[in-house]
Amino acid sequence: MTSADRVDRLPATRAEVAFIGRSNVGKSSLLNALAGRKNLAHVSKTPGRTQLLNCFELGDGTTAVDCPGYGYAAVPGAVKDGWAGMIEGYLLGRSELVMILALVDGEIGPTALDTTLLEWLRAHELPFTVIASKHDKVKASKRDRRKRELAEACGLTAADVVWVSAAKDVGIHRLRDLIRHWAVTADRGA
Ligand code: GDP
Repeated sequence: MTSADRVDRLPATRAEVAFIGRSNVGKSSLLNALAGRKNLAHVSKTPGRTQLLNCFELGDGTTAVDCPGYGYAAVPGAVKDGWAGMIEGYLLGRSELVMILALVDGEIGPTALDTTLLEWLRAHELPFTVIASKHDKVKASKRDRRKRELAEACGLTAADVVWVSAAKDVGIHRLRDLIRHWAVTADRGA
């Protein structure tokens, strides 16, 4: 739909979900898989838009926002101005935000910046779900253990984490259903 550098420049919505994660976690690949398109999230990586909130329409007046990938020290909770300030302003100020999908690389688990973000989301009592990416990169024989370890490192149980593979189409349908559920539930004022 549009890109914005501030929460008050985003379009009106009934309910919104946000995608956030460090650069290279697989966010663009996941957005493309969810949309069933090859190059939708390419727009988010276009120079000039990498620092913006990129807004997509989900249907029924609901929206998804792709937050710029974080890296180095720039993550909400770690810095108070510039890039992180913009994301913080969005996450704290968007009243229609019903769910934050916090991406963690399933192959390597949460990094220090990922856990900083999760602690910050908890401290502000924001609704979030951890999405573990690149399911296909974890050997089948190690998956159960990895699922437990990744969840634990995020302060969660294995059942709380949604595993996906954009490359092998794992968990995409389920995540689509969950997003629909979150948006619809919020819309009913539940
Ligand atoms: P972003 O920076 O978070 O948008 O990450 P990208 O979607 O650009 O992905 C970063 C790298 O991880 C690319 O080389 C992708 O091909 C790879 N990648 C993303 N998702 C998957 C996945 O589900 N499986 C595998 N094996 N690789 C993936």
